[in-house]
Amino acid sequence: SREIHLKHRPSGIPGSEDFSLVSVPVGVLKEGEVLVKNLWMSVDPYMRGRMLERKSYIAPFELGEVLSGGAIGEVVETNNPAFPVGSKVANMSGWREYFSTSGADLQLLPKTDIPDQAFLGVLGMPGMTAYTGLSKIAQLKEGDSVFVSAASGAVGAIVCQIAKLKGCYVAGSVGSDEKARYLLEELGVDAVVNYKTTDNLQESIAKACPEGIDVYFENVGGAHLEAVLNLMNDYGRIAVCGMIDQYNATSPSAGPSNLSQLIIKKLTMQGFIVFDHWDGYPAFVEQMTQWIQQGKISAKETVYQGIEQAPEAFIGLFTGKNTGKMLVKLA
Ligand code: NDP
Repeated sequence: SREIHLKHRPSGIPGSEDFSLVSVPVGVLKEGEVLVKNLWMSVDPYMRGRMLERKSYIAPFELGEVLSGGAIGEVVETNNPAFPVGSKVANMSGWREYFSTSGADLQLLPKTDIPDQAFLGVLGMPGMTAYTGLSKIAQLKEGDSVFVSAASGAVGAIVCQIAKLKGCYVAGSVGSDEKARYLLEELGVDAVVNYKTTDNLQESIAKACPEGIDVYFENVGGAHLEAVLNLMNDYGRIAVCGMIDQYNATSPSAGPSNLSQLIIKKLTMQGFIVFDHWDGYPAFVEQMTQWIQQGKISAKETVYQGIEQAPEAFIGLFTGKNTGKMLVKLA
């Protein structure tokens, strides 16, 4: 079995030299254990934070050890009747081809006609993040004017579609014209800003949101946050989901110079971590499955092939290589 280890703690945008591909023997199963072959693994921006030695909501990865993260696998050998051979399971033991476990850390995938890897994207953590951030954190209401940054990504593209479904005006920012077309033509977003080609981010966002912004779904931080603060409407809500603009920073970034907008406009700005809201996951899966089956929500994927490509896929998150969910297909 092959797996990816963290070789160095990256400085700035990670490079392939920060990772190593290691072959390890597949052990003999003990009493009660199952052997899982991973079919798909997820790479996610939050993993960058775990590559640093620091205190956070989740422990750092260990140097010289296998990385971990969301994956979908298939049980290929079993000593546990709860997981017959052929069972598809969601797990947090990604970045490796095979692993054995008691099964305590496995969730059986529900039987649906939706492809398995959706449970790493639209029906998994990123979809749940979009749903929770809009409904619980931003208190989305019909008719709101919504702005989303990193709008074509795993979370962003679902935010755009849920907000449209809820009868909102939706605008977003992306890093390429192709992504802009995807949002406008395939997802029905009302306006898009390419933050890489604009010479005035705030003016471009203002044009995209002629009625101002009631809800900002923040995935980026930095200049985006500063520009949007100036464009928020009174009593607006900002759901702070991520700040990918800062994940590779090698020195502290400048704060927004205009936080007084929070007072002037009586804004609510709230950060959240989706795992705190996991009690709502079954209800989310039910709702999202319905939306997908009714053709109301679609989800694009960008797929890299083979575990040896996993570091490139991960690095690609920070250079905008993905539209929709970034995935690695292992088998
Ligand atoms: P995405 O699929 O959106 O991938 C990342 C995208 O971010 C890239 O494709 C790129 O698109 C954009 N990007 C990368 N660097 C920058 C930059 N410096 N400035 C602006 N845009 C950038 O990832 P996810 O959907 O998985 O995650 C989106 C955000 O949500 C992240 O900030 C992540 O940390 C956060 N998150 C938070 C969770 C929570 O519980 N709070 C849970 C899950 C995700 P482009 O070409 O448009 O630049």
